[in-house]
Amino acid sequence: DFADRIDAIRGDFPILEQRIGGRPLIYLDNGATTQMPDAVLDALAAHYRTDNANVHRGIHTLSERSTAAFERARRTVQRFVNAAESDEIVFTGGTTDAINMAARAWEERVGPGSTIAVTALEHHANLVPWQQLCKRTGARFEVIPLTPQGDIDLEALETVLRSQKVSLVAVAHVSNVLGSVNPVREIAAMAHERGTCVLVDAAQSVRHEIVNVQDADCDFLCFSGHKMLGPAGIGVLYGKRELLAELSPVRFGGEMVDKVSFAETTFEKPPLRFEAGTPNYPGAIALAAAIGYIESAGRDKIASYEHELTAYAERALGSIDGLHVLGDPARRAGCLSFTVDDVHPFDLATFMDKQGVALRSGNQCAQPLLHEVYGVQNVTRLSPAFYNTHVEIDSCVELLGRTVALLRAAR
Ligand code: PMP
Repeated sequence: DFADRIDAIRGDFPILEQRIGGRPLIYLDNGATTQMPDAVLDALAAHYRTDNANVHRGIHTLSERSTAAFERARRTVQRFVNAAESDEIVFTGGTTDAINMAARAWEERVGPGSTIAVTALEHHANLVPWQQLCKRTGARFEVIPLTPQGDIDLEALETVLRSQKVSLVAVAHVSNVLGSVNPVREIAAMAHERGTCVLVDAAQSVRHEIVNVQDADCDFLCFSGHKMLGPAGIGVLYGKRELLAELSPVRFGGEMVDKVSFAETTFEKPPLRFEAGTPNYPGAIALAAAIGYIESAGRDKIASYEHELTAYAERALGSIDGLHVLGDPARRAGCLSFTVDDVHPFDLATFMDKQGVALRSGNQCAQPLLHEVYGVQNVTRLSPAFYNTHVEIDSCVELLGRTVALLRAAR
């Protein structure tokens, strides 16, 4: 069972073995970034030590090794998200980079009279690029509201799809604030019925939900390596083959071209067409190692353990008077965001840090959701990973309870 292996698993993550403020570190900010196991750090170092060279350029041995490892990583990612072909995997700098690329490429497809729809729970990364695209092109920017429970209002989405010419719906698989799993497959089916494309922001879900692009039938899917045990600076834009083939490149330079003259340039086929310049091949190779780690730990086991740990944390937080968790508990997967009456999230996170507990406080890069939907300025977020334990959750909640009491008394 997964819980029985937790000590061995924790042993794979050297960063967890340290004290902060004289206490053992309790790292519960995995929604922002996860930690890297030795297997990933070693893969990165090994590549730099023995195989490093630029990819796709040289015919010397190191370049061939480096290119082979990079393209192997692409196939590993393909398998991981169950894409039909490895050409559908474009390496990017992260989720934000991937969404910006998609939004730039989408510019040819929208204008006055067409609509881009996002949901009210999106991270800034899946909102601002589309909002700005609409400002540039004159397309309409439509926000799909949430139900009173905090779920995406599918009836409202249906109305928008029926009454407007919606070119694309951009939706998070798992909300980075509410932790809720959104019905992306159902949303894709609704959209496709009207000829609308769907982009799924899987930044918060790749680690602990099984992401399957063919099953979800999404047109694009984006995620970041650093939220799934990989390094920062690598991410993925998955796009359906026929869609990528139709889109023009958005960045220009080496590697993405076919023939270049002073007068004209022709471009490579996808995915290279979208990967101008030297890609982050060490990042891609390390991401493949992260996928290897996740798969050997067991994706479904990770998912169920993390769901259980999150539910456990939510129940435990119930003991703190005046603490309110945002969103629909029935859909919760990845994280918990909460407010505490009479306590500022920054004070709370600062005092918790002094006691070794890493929590996130702030607007969680979702200002419209917090300010305009929930009417709060900031929240505190607790986001467990599979290397966290029930004992850590207990300690965190106990320390939170004491800290809240202390901060209230000091008011
Ligand atoms: N979307 C969601 C749902 C996220 O949680 C995040 C990261 N917090 C992003 C997008 C952006 O990811 P990155 O910063 O790696 O580009």
